[in-house]
Amino acid sequence: MIGRAIAVVVALALLTAAGGAALGPGGRAKQTVTLLASKGPRPAGEPGAEAVAQRFVAAELEKLGYRVVLQRVDLPNGRSTRNVVGLSSGRPKVVIVAHLDGVRGSPAANDNASGVAVLLELAASLRSTPGVLVAATGGEERVVTGSRVHLGSLRLVRGISPQARRGVRLAVTLDMVGVGTRLHVRGIERQPNRSARLLLDRDGSTYLRDDGDSDHAELTRNGLPAAWLEWRTDACWHESCDVARRVDARRLEAAFHVVLDAAFLALKS
Ligand SMILES: [Zn+2]
Repeated sequence: MIGRAIAVVVALALLTAAGGAALGPGGRAKQTVTLLASKGPRPAGEPGAEAVAQRFVAAELEKLGYRVVLQRVDLPNGRSTRNVVGLSSGRPKVVIVAHLDGVRGSPAANDNASGVAVLLELAASLRSTPGVLVAATGGEERVVTGSRVHLGSLRLVRGISPQARRGVRLAVTLDMVGVGTRLHVRGIERQPNRSARLLLDRDGSTYLRDDGDSDHAELTRNGLPAAWLEWRTDACWHESCDVARRVDARRLEAAFHVVLDAAFLALKS
């Protein structure tokens, strides 16, 4: 009898964990990935899913109490897209970026609904904290825009004055944080910059130099030393198989904690 009662309690606990209320940041982020990916591909500047996702992110940030600014990003084909920027009070000390656009023919779940989903969880944890800027950038995918640079992050950094850039302690890009076996902090420098060092302060991630393959490159090259957090390697990168069910809540949660811990360190300094 007691055994059966315990079994019922365990079953109820499992049911609760599977429901909404008991989900942690990783589980909630996974739900957001599923939602964003369900809208279809999000190529920059094309009508449809990209704009829907931008409105969703803007509404979420507003609900959390951020002042939301939409930045127009002009594309080489004459169209435009937008950065959705959320600002708390005061000068930004922490800048967190994730690109919202994706490539054609892919639901772009890991690249990069995963980053946007973790960005929203971080925005929730840092709500009412002064000195936070979060941005869901547009026009990151150069294979879509045809640009040599990541246009959304270039627009973002140009909107921050040189003086304000010097006040930023942590700048991080979340790009592909839901699939893979190794968590890397990446940067275009030979040695980890200030942002990368804050992210590496936790065990479990290693530094890997890159050629500037995500939004952090434009930030770094324009006076805002930034790092890129990425789980590697994803065999479905830029493919139609980049679907939400492959994105792992535990990996999302690990990325969330790495950035949250670094943000607290940066805000204290
Ligand atoms: Zn990406």
